Amino acid sequence: MTEKCGVVGVSLDEREAVRPLYYALYALQHRGQESAGIVTHDGFQQHSHVEMGLVGDAFDEDDLARLAGSAGIGHVRYPTAGSVDKGCAQPFSVSFKSGSLGLSHNGNLVNADEIRDELAGFGHAFTSDGDTEVIAHDLARNLLEADLIRAVKRTMSRIHGSYALTICHDDTVLGVRDPRGNRPLCIGKLDDGYAIASESAAIDTLDGTLVRDVEPGELVVLEPDGSGFDSYQLVETEETAHCFFEHVYFARPDSVIDGHLVYEARRELGRRLWAESGVETDVVMPVPDSGRAFASGYAEAASETTAAGAPREEGQTGPEFAEGLMKNRYVGRTFIMPTQGERERAVRLKLNPIKSTVENKTVTLIDDSIVRGTTSTQLVDLLKDCGAKEVHLRIGAPPIVAPCYMGIDMATREELIASDKSVPEIAETIGADSVSYLSTNTVAEALETARDDLCLGCVTGEYPYDIEGEETDRNVTRPTIDSGIEADD
Ligand code: AMP
Repeated sequence: MTEKCGVVGVSLDEREAVRPLYYALYALQHRGQESAGIVTHDGFQQHSHVEMGLVGDAFDEDDLARLAGSAGIGHVRYPTAGSVDKGCAQPFSVSFKSGSLGLSHNGNLVNADEIRDELAGFGHAFTSDGDTEVIAHDLARNLLEADLIRAVKRTMSRIHGSYALTICHDDTVLGVRDPRGNRPLCIGKLDDGYAIASESAAIDTLDGTLVRDVEPGELVVLEPDGSGFDSYQLVETEETAHCFFEHVYFARPDSVIDGHLVYEARRELGRRLWAESGVETDVVMPVPDSGRAFASGYAEAASETTAAGAPREEGQTGPEFAEGLMKNRYVGRTFIMPTQGERERAVRLKLNPIKSTVENKTVTLIDDSIVRGTTSTQLVDLLKDCGAKEVHLRIGAPPIVAPCYMGIDMATREELIASDKSVPEIAETIGADSVSYLSTNTVAEALETARDDLCLGCVTGEYPYDIEGEETDRNVTRPTIDSGIEADD
């Protein structure tokens, strides 16, 4: 089950944690719109409220008032077709002999079934088919035999896949990032405590300061009085597998992820698009909002050099940057629509061209990615209907050729337009005069990260985890799940 979500955890001195958690979830709403939830602990007991829908709809004043305590975690869940089910909404909470646990997970395990089967054999009863519940049960079981740090370490030695977690163990809030750091997670300092969140934009929203990213393989334990945090590097990692798509599409442009401001990374990708495949058209326009930062970098680079790479002469300008498509901001992300017919309608509902900026013009349209090709096919059609003479598509990522098993809903191979088509065939299918993408090496360079430190599974078909039936791009094997606790010491 794919889980591409937003997580947060907060530990404060005295103030109730619920408001900061609620605001942080608002800041992370782009990471998931299917459900929202908060679990708090008041020093005596755990409180939980989890509801389907957007953050603004999931809580009313009474719900917030009931979530007492100065420590807690929150979660927003990404919609995946076919699994709209409250059983999968998070944070997942469980009470057991030695306390209570709340758990928020962003990512996706690739060996959850094996662990679920094993735990079910020990008598654990599962209420959902989600992998988050597997982590919660595994941790609860380990906590019966070991202290918190060793229990988390043991669970980390058993689970394989991507996970950025915030955990509330009684009133102690923890953050854990998988050994390859696939999903983002960062630590922020607030006036009266600390927060851990998927993205730094959530820390900004709380008027906090970004301290640093949680390291791959690291456990961070916030002090319950909000005075600081302890760090435990539980798994040493030699190479990371940061999801490049976080930088390209998923994260907010105003977030800093693994040391890079997402907005600047996207602008740089846009600049490189111009350098590698610029085309001299009358206008360049973004697909809002996902293409905006790319288009601004592209247009800036185009004002400095010609498409052939020569410096522009005095008075010579490149394509004019224009907002040629207006977005209806009340329509959700197109992926929420389960059928192709609905997705096509959604694109038309969502975007409307401004005729005067395209009529009789040659146009370059910029977006971050093409998945199924629905958006670009519709938009090229729309722009041509409005009188565009040519429409060239420039994409700030490589072709997406394979599914994501690490938590981003990418559709199946059959649905991906690039899985069985060359770039010219894609241009023909979409109806564009030309299409160009970036290469994986260019993406790695622009992100200032070694190619081997990125997860490029969806664009190479080779994954940084050991996934059944798929190729891996490195030396990884999934752990054996029967490792004993003694082995961790
Ligand atoms: P498609 O229309 O299927 O080709 O999808 C491409 C459009 O969806 C682009 O405008 C992207 O910004 C956006 N997009 C890319 N990946 C995702 C995703 N995982 N979930 C939702 N939207 C996405």
